[in-house]
Amino acid sequence: MSLFTKAEIRQINDCYDDLKREIVKRFDNERMEKVEKAFIFANAAHDGVRRKSGEPYIIHPIAVATVVARDLGLGATSVIAAILHDVVEDTDYTVEDIRNLFGENVSRIVDGLTKLSGEMDTRQALTLKKMLMTLSDDVRVILIKLADRLHNMRTLESLRPLKQLKVASETLYLYAPLAHRLGLYAIKNELEELSFKFKHPEDYNHLLYQLHDQEEKRNYLVNEFIAPIRQRLADEGIECTVTHRLKSMFSIWTKMHTKGVTFDEVYDLLAIRIILKAKPGISEKRQCFEVLSLVTDIYPPKPDRIRDWITMPRANGYESLHVTVMGPQGKWVEVQIRTERMDQIAEYGFAAHYRYKDAATTENELDRWIERIRDHLANSEYDAFEFLDEFKLDLFASDIVVFTPKGKTIKLPKNSTVIDVAYEIHTNLGDKCIGAKINQKLVPPSHTLQNGDQVEILTSENQIPQQGWLTYATTAKARSKIKDALRNENHRHLEKGREMVEEAIRQHNAPLVANTLRKIVVHYNMNNKEQLYSEVGMGVINLNDIGSVLSQKSKNKFIKYWNITLRGKGKATESITEEEPQEEPSQKIDKLKPFLLKESPDKVSYSLAKCCNPIPGDDVIGYISSGDHVMIHKKSCPKAEKLVASQAHMIIAAEWTKFRKLSYLTRLNLSGFDRIGLVNDITTIISKLHSINMRSVKFDTHEGLFEGDLFLYIHNTEDLQTLIGELGKIKGIDKVTRVENLSD
Ligand code: MN
Repeated sequence: MSLFTKAEIRQINDCYDDLKREIVKRFDNERMEKVEKAFIFANAAHDGVRRKSGEPYIIHPIAVATVVARDLGLGATSVIAAILHDVVEDTDYTVEDIRNLFGENVSRIVDGLTKLSGEMDTRQALTLKKMLMTLSDDVRVILIKLADRLHNMRTLESLRPLKQLKVASETLYLYAPLAHRLGLYAIKNELEELSFKFKHPEDYNHLLYQLHDQEEKRNYLVNEFIAPIRQRLADEGIECTVTHRLKSMFSIWTKMHTKGVTFDEVYDLLAIRIILKAKPGISEKRQCFEVLSLVTDIYPPKPDRIRDWITMPRANGYESLHVTVMGPQGKWVEVQIRTERMDQIAEYGFAAHYRYKDAATTENELDRWIERIRDHLANSEYDAFEFLDEFKLDLFASDIVVFTPKGKTIKLPKNSTVIDVAYEIHTNLGDKCIGAKINQKLVPPSHTLQNGDQVEILTSENQIPQQGWLTYATTAKARSKIKDALRNENHRHLEKGREMVEEAIRQHNAPLVANTLRKIVVHYNMNNKEQLYSEVGMGVINLNDIGSVLSQKSKNKFIKYWNITLRGKGKATESITEEEPQEEPSQKIDKLKPFLLKESPDKVSYSLAKCCNPIPGDDVIGYISSGDHVMIHKKSCPKAEKLVASQAHMIIAAEWTKFRKLSYLTRLNLSGFDRIGLVNDITTIISKLHSINMRSVKFDTHEGLFEGDLFLYIHNTEDLQTLIGELGKIKGIDKVTRVENLSD
């Protein structure tokens, strides 16, 4: 007997029927029976348990299994593992039980998924690290994990707002890039779109409205654009489908923000997609280029905007031909040309390989990538955060291709430098790199590579890895190798220095004891003996005058030593910055309640972050920097976004209470057309608004255009909005924007 109501049981069965419809065409009877067995088992295990939304828990794993089957196209093992994915985590069953009932493969995947669960309150960096280790065991674990996350995002509505923010941030930070790296565009887009919706609901709704508003106009444009192409392709007897796709809302929004443009200025909203049924016997590449040529006969292409991802597929396997052309009405339109096979890869990424049985036979880019991660994990000693940052560089980057002198191709993230190539080829080549010859020209290790460069690495036996390389090394591989080398190097110096110091002490017949060492440390103004050793080892300090120290009476010096240690300690506490707490928050802060920002705070104090300078009324969150201190950031602050995504357990909701007395420094940037009396108009408006005081104005004019900053003391966002509104009405002013950073 089930603990659920009749209506709920019907809901469960409907949901399961959806899954069955999805797989019945592909799975034989034997597989269908195994799926059924998993469903019955999981349904009984989760019986009576509900999700936050109130619906039966089992709905979730079935929905995840449906994504696994439909959106990822994975096989029976994965579907079964998806159905069972929360059983070990949430019920009394163990991995052994799963193994006995469903076999080794399913249980291994469920085990991997269980290890990745319950991460909400732990440090995300560790989660990622765990995730990547699992990745190298079985990619299916990550694919199912992504499906799990997708369904959680689809049902995020029922969680508390702060929880929504945390989950959405984490998704954007970790899961969307991962989906991108695995080539799962559809899933990546949906994850981004949902994260955007929950993180910035107002922007989301506004953009939705704007897109809707233009829909009719856009459809007209699309039809007008597509018709001649269709006609021409039909005339040539090319079988294909022509579709169009709107750029995702998240990417429109990102573009508006990063490039500071308005909605109307985002020119490439639309992409037209031509998917051909490839004719047998002719290379797919040739057929795609033929279509390209037909399209550019009709519409002129934008120079430099032809991207050939067929000759050189992207690292995530993506193949396609892109061209931006001038359409009717003078609008740029992107056209993507590919075959049905390429389209499958574009939609399902590496999962496409799993859709067919030949998954294991081809050594693909994914394997190579996983190989690199494995490498990386094996020799990285640094902490999880550092690892995460480095790794993410790799996830986000788009690729360039360079050539070795012998014509071998090497794929690298965009903005890679000579040092990256050197390490990519071989660690020794990296360690000894002094520069390169690119297209016959000599360049330094810091030189940024262009797509298609032919790179010959130059080395010298005298070269050693340099600290400075880290400022421009881009790939995770190069960075970790350099760090390893520097660590070793430092270790070598330390050892050498220790020997030299001890030898000097012996030569002066002084006792080799802690006291003697302390005296030397003090004499050379070092913080500790490690620093002494390493500077001696590097030759920064020579020990010529060590004799004078060793014969001295040490009293005064002792005092100095203690001073230094104390000073050293002081520094150490200072360097525990706002974002790196040493301890877990104490009981003083109630993480479940929003933190109230008051003019005169009681036991827990707070400060306003300097990176985004929030003022009362701003949408803010708190970061618990210690047991009795909270750092307040604007929700939209990039630094805060990173904190929410990577240290969710230190984040609390924060709310402003009534603020009356205090004012906060705020900066507004103004631009427009210069005219006589403009500055006067601006200052008049400010002086009329009594609640606002001006600290300073800086204006520059240049050929009739002006740009400038106002620094104001202001009480809250309401006053600020009033002011921005008033300023916007002044003749000649084009843009008024708040600038978060107060220093130039
Ligand atoms: Mn789950």
